[in-house]
Amino acid sequence: MCSLKVISLDFSVAVAFYIFVFLALILIIWLFHKRQKDKDLSLDPKYIWFCSVCSYTYINTKEELISICPRCGSYNKK
Ligand SMILES: [Zn+2]
Repeated sequence: MCSLKVISLDFSVAVAFYIFVFLALILIIWLFHKRQKDKDLSLDPKYIWFCSVCSYTYINTKEELISICPRCGSYNKK
């Protein structure tokens, strides 16, 4: 009777531990994906523009060939 109680307690602890590890793993994977996505967005060289007139570096995700510098208003080509 006493040993059965210990086994059931161990089982519930094991299940709780398994759920905790599982949730922690999901959280780690989610954070890693989020971090990687943010990194890709901010460091994609396709969206980073360098103005040839005022040497201002800016990010424009809408245009791919020509964009307007937000500081001096001149057009910049890739
Ligand atoms: Zn400029």
